[in-house]
Amino acid sequence: MDISKLGIFEIKSLLLKREVSCTELVKAYIERAERLNGILNCFITINRESALIEAKQTDEIIQKNPDGIRPLDGLPIAIKDIFVTRNIRTTCGSKILGNFVPPFDATVVRRLRDAGAIIFGKLNMDEFAMGSSNENSYFGPVKNPFDLSRSPGGSSGGSAAAVAAGLTPASVGTDTGGSIRQPAAFCGIVGMKPSYGRISRYGMIAFSSSLDQAGPMCRNVRDCAILLESIAGNDPKDSTTMSTPVPHYTEWIVGDPSEITVGILRPDTYEGVNPEVLSAYQNVVNLFAKHNIPITEIELPHIKYAVAVYYLIATSEASSNLARYDGVRYGFRSGEFGNLREMYIKTRMEGFGDEVKRRIILGTFALSSGYYDAFFRKASQVRRLIANDFYKAFSKVNTIIMPVTPDVAFRLGEKVSDPLSMYLSDIFTIPVNLAGLPAISMPAGRNREGLPIGVQFIGKPFDEHTLLNTAAFYERESMCMNILNEVNL
Ligand code: GLN
Repeated sequence: MDISKLGIFEIKSLLLKREVSCTELVKAYIERAERLNGILNCFITINRESALIEAKQTDEIIQKNPDGIRPLDGLPIAIKDIFVTRNIRTTCGSKILGNFVPPFDATVVRRLRDAGAIIFGKLNMDEFAMGSSNENSYFGPVKNPFDLSRSPGGSSGGSAAAVAAGLTPASVGTDTGGSIRQPAAFCGIVGMKPSYGRISRYGMIAFSSSLDQAGPMCRNVRDCAILLESIAGNDPKDSTTMSTPVPHYTEWIVGDPSEITVGILRPDTYEGVNPEVLSAYQNVVNLFAKHNIPITEIELPHIKYAVAVYYLIATSEASSNLARYDGVRYGFRSGEFGNLREMYIKTRMEGFGDEVKRRIILGTFALSSGYYDAFFRKASQVRRLIANDFYKAFSKVNTIIMPVTPDVAFRLGEKVSDPLSMYLSDIFTIPVNLAGLPAISMPAGRNREGLPIGVQFIGKPFDEHTLLNTAAFYERESMCMNILNEVNL
């Protein structure tokens, strides 16, 4: 059986028709993952044994209860290695957690399992989700399935590449400043960052707690709705989750154009953006115009400060969050030390990579007394202005269309020694996180070299359903997901 082009929906119907068993599916995915991991490096861990045991149990459940099966029953899935998984190693892409086997499940993991999914692997990522290329992973970079010399993006690069190459039917990633949408754009898949507070962060290893959000990474919009429906919602274990009811997202993927009103920015906002990316974006806007969807020019005057604001807030929160990795309770501990203080220092020196250290230093500086007002407080104030810009725009339209990235997937090694240019590549994704909004990244064709280009639709807070309707409309009219037929590994 060729599983390489299957998404969640296809797998569900194969299982329902009894054309395949869960055990057969899990085996097929594990074999494929093991075979292709030497090329793509998507997986940090494959938990073959526990996955096969669970698959067998699921087959028994399905057999006994043919009609009452749960929404994801029998679905094999691999997720970003940032979600803690009971009895399965969880590294967050770092040496400091290289041996960490958590005693509990993240809420996202719990919900996937309760819906019937079988987690069979943990996917590569930039260390602590800090990065845009996957090159900051302790476990080595992931390769882009469209061009093995290029980055799949980051930090959820393992997830994006694995979905695009059919090593998993779907995945869950996280997005603090673009880490779902940018790799989705670089790998030609659908990636959604829901509103802040839509999905529980319990058991999701913290990078920047006021920005981090989990979300689905899939082969199409319908799968994205199915997955979101399963993992979203209030969680008493995360006080930042909202009790706003979770709509039946799958009912919203009709793609009704009469529900859509579009906002776009003035063309001069995009100076310096790769012309091929710009023309792909323009084609998307034209497609909406062709269907007589109202398009209004909007202004977001403060987003030009977003990258600066983000790199103060995210590093500050990270410096605080990462203080817990001290070699005492869990994770890596340096082998040689004379006293406790030296143990802390050596553990952190040897356990963290360069980018993580750079950010801890930046964040500690921004929070230090004397600088707190000038940096962290000021950044928080500008963050509010950015959010207000969006709210104002959303009084006129319900969807903002923007490019995801200023460029297509770059070559591995191209930007790694130039952190500033790497940071600037997040310019269109970061404002969305600062404002806590939902956004979905969709393929918008390929450039001359065949590399995917992405476009994002940004929505009002907790209006994921409208966003899914917009994305479904665009997906149907553009046939953008045909791009995945180009991946043949
Ligand atoms: N690329 C951004 C960073 O390096 C965003 C990362 C993320 O969303 N986790 O911080």
